[in-house]
Amino acid sequence: YQDCKSVEPTLGTTDNHGAALSRQLKGEALKSRVEAVDPDTCDVGDEDAFFVADLGEVYRQHLRWKKNLGRVKPHYAVKCNPDPQVLRLLSELGLGFDCASKNEIETVLKMGVDPARIIYAQPCKTKGYLRYATNAGVKQMTFDNADELYKTKQIAPDAELYLRILTDDSASLCRLSQKFGACVDTTGELLELAKKLELNVVGVAFHVGSGASDPKAFIKAVQDARFVFDQAAALGFAMHTLDVGGGFTGDESFEPMAAVLTASLDEYFPPHIRIIGEPGRYFVSTAFTLACHVIARRTVADATLGTTSYMLYMNDGVYGNFSSIIFDHQHPVPRVLKNGDDILYDVRRSGYDTPSVVEYSIWGPTCDGIDVISSSCSFPEVLNVNDWLYFEDMGAYTKCSATRFNGFTNNHDVVYVCSEPGASALLGL
Ligand code: PLP
Repeated sequence: YQDCKSVEPTLGTTDNHGAALSRQLKGEALKSRVEAVDPDTCDVGDEDAFFVADLGEVYRQHLRWKKNLGRVKPHYAVKCNPDPQVLRLLSELGLGFDCASKNEIETVLKMGVDPARIIYAQPCKTKGYLRYATNAGVKQMTFDNADELYKTKQIAPDAELYLRILTDDSASLCRLSQKFGACVDTTGELLELAKKLELNVVGVAFHVGSGASDPKAFIKAVQDARFVFDQAAALGFAMHTLDVGGGFTGDESFEPMAAVLTASLDEYFPPHIRIIGEPGRYFVSTAFTLACHVIARRTVADATLGTTSYMLYMNDGVYGNFSSIIFDHQHPVPRVLKNGDDILYDVRRSGYDTPSVVEYSIWGPTCDGIDVISSSCSFPEVLNVNDWLYFEDMGAYTKCSATRFNGFTNNHDVVYVCSEPGASALLGL
């Protein structure tokens, strides 16, 4: 994406080197924070769960996007993880932002981002928020129904509108098209109404569902978008931008997905059409690791089988940062950090071969029985009260949807590390 800052890969940015350095830095940060806590004397909050975030991973995702989806200018979906350092880094890298509410718009504007870099990507907007966005100079926004057009005419007549269309999101983790998106049978009527109201429709938007796994969804959506571009042209609109939404995962499926999308874009949209996207989880998922403290333990002895297992109670759960289990259909994997016997970080990944013999279930801190993180897992070692566990890939849809249920905090500390000199330089770290 041409108007994003051109960043040359620096020493840490070869994938293997970067990943190894990232693991090392995260490990050191986890260890030093955990070792600083004495649960027998600490103050309230000192032993709370905490994140370690590697901003270098976010930076590497940026380089990877540029390499594979260079035609698509990303507008980071703030809802996914509004971490201030992540927003600052992405802003420095020249990304745009997809905001869903007044607070998100305000957060991004306060960083000094030009309102022209924001898309208010919410087809059903609160009137007060729409007024705020308009007064703040945010013009790009989506719609998918007639009532929204009347609302826009009243409050934001100069808006640059994107018609959000329905997609086949059946192969995604979180389906969005059950709620949003105009079916192509209705786009003609909506465009006619927009014309009658003298509104400015500048493009089409879609979202193939968060955590998408079927590249064919992108092909169909791009074809439908082409159809709507042609419909709009026939009515006299000069659409200039296609918004391909989010849905990209940060795992190895990204490259093939990006290749399919790029081929469809090149087939259906000539180079003068600007292409933007709204990726969220792609940028942050792997960057954040969460450490949790074992606050209680119950021993379960089965006299019939002659076995012993343990229920571990941690100080974070599904009403907190593990909200991703409920809302984002995730299955976070517990790993042993420990503290009592000093096993710290990543033992399993570096070839730890002791068999996993001790059985556990892992629970959150609230009094609700639904608050379970893993109903069955096993580790080689016996874990005690005061030990620590960690969970990788906790950057997307975790902290942002945590509640304060039962009076627990939903604002856990983030310890930042940076495995990329380029990102450190941009952030002045
Ligand atoms: N854009 C919109 C309108 C969304 O609703 C979402 C997620 O819900 C996103 C972008 C980000 O999606 P993802 O995190 O899958 O990239």
